[in-house]
Amino acid sequence: MNIGVPREIKNHEYRVGLTPDSVKSYVQRGHHVAIETQAGVGSGHSDEEYRKAGAQIASGPEEIWTGADMIIKVKEPLESEYQYFREGLILFTYLHLAANKPLTQALMDSGVTAIAYETIELPDGRLPCLTPMSEIAGRLSIQEGAKYLEKSFGGRGILLGGVPGVHRGSVTILGGGTVGTNACKIAVGIGANVTILDINPRRLAYLDDIFGSSITTLYATEANIHQAAADADILVGAVLIPGKAAPKLITRDIIQTMRPGAVLVDVAVDQGGCAQTSRPTTHDDPIFIVDNVVHYCVANMPGAVAYTSTQALTSVTLPYGLSLADHGVAQSVSRKPDLALGLNIYQGECVNQAVAQSLDLPW
Ligand code: NAD
Repeated sequence: MNIGVPREIKNHEYRVGLTPDSVKSYVQRGHHVAIETQAGVGSGHSDEEYRKAGAQIASGPEEIWTGADMIIKVKEPLESEYQYFREGLILFTYLHLAANKPLTQALMDSGVTAIAYETIELPDGRLPCLTPMSEIAGRLSIQEGAKYLEKSFGGRGILLGGVPGVHRGSVTILGGGTVGTNACKIAVGIGANVTILDINPRRLAYLDDIFGSSITTLYATEANIHQAAADADILVGAVLIPGKAAPKLITRDIIQTMRPGAVLVDVAVDQGGCAQTSRPTTHDDPIFIVDNVVHYCVANMPGAVAYTSTQALTSVTLPYGLSLADHGVAQSVSRKPDLALGLNIYQGECVNQAVAQSLDLPW
């Protein structure tokens, strides 16, 4: 199969769909890999490394998209890339379609087969291709939140860990899954007071077992969310209902009760955000302020640490990508039920129930 890896064009997105090592795996199995020049530079890999691994270096996106049977990338295609969609093309990448009707429509209209990393799901409910990025975004959420608490960014001027004789900062985390747990780990490590909320009692019990008395766990009732947000210096939005738009649990009313200069890091913004006041931002211009609360809503947070992210992402996507290349879509999804759940658009139709329902598409 001809595999194409374009350079990512989303703002400050430095990750790349394949590392030189993963290129080798495709080439060893007899596949042809073309990668756009400079595509790997942001994550620490030169054209020369790709060439040595057996890839062909292409001068621009058109050559990559038009010559490929399967495109492997990182972020969803942007509008300028829709022109390359065509019937029969396989697109293997993050898509986040539940919050993106225009892209969904463009994929359906063109006949592209689109497989989304984020909806590949193992029988036990784990999302193997989302997990490493969620681990990274969760850990980054505290790093970024701590930065924007600084006065010069509009923050409260709070040092999260405090100093002897002075109160520590408070972190509230809404959603105790992968993002939430990793945010919790860093917040506890820094020495903040941490409260974490979830609707799933098993998650709360797990977090209680792991972190013990260094955190407070709470059921995510409306009243608890209200109180924990009002007490927070950093509020991390980390809820997910797989494939669906994020529920708007943090209302404008709640934002208005937060401390002036507190920071909301809405990690769930890639699924539309869990605050009513959230809108996606970029690494170039990451924050905005609503009702005196600093909002950090970068939709591709792991792009900031491209080396770590690319290594982590390509390790988990490789077995699925190789299966698609070796056996094609139909055979691969029938062999791997987890990959079947990744299929979002097939033969002009949306075939993922959660995405279809979020976008009011026929199901
Ligand atoms: P996850 O499934 O591991 O965890 C989500 C948690 O939310 C679960 O524990 C679930 O019980 C909880 N939840 C669901 N509904 C809830 C509710 N009403 N109240 C409280 N908790 C609720 O998901 P994750 O991997 O942690 O991802 C969280 C979000 O972060 C997703 O939207 C994901 O796409 C996003 N994400 C964003 C970035 C970024 O760069 N912005 C990067 C990675 C992941």
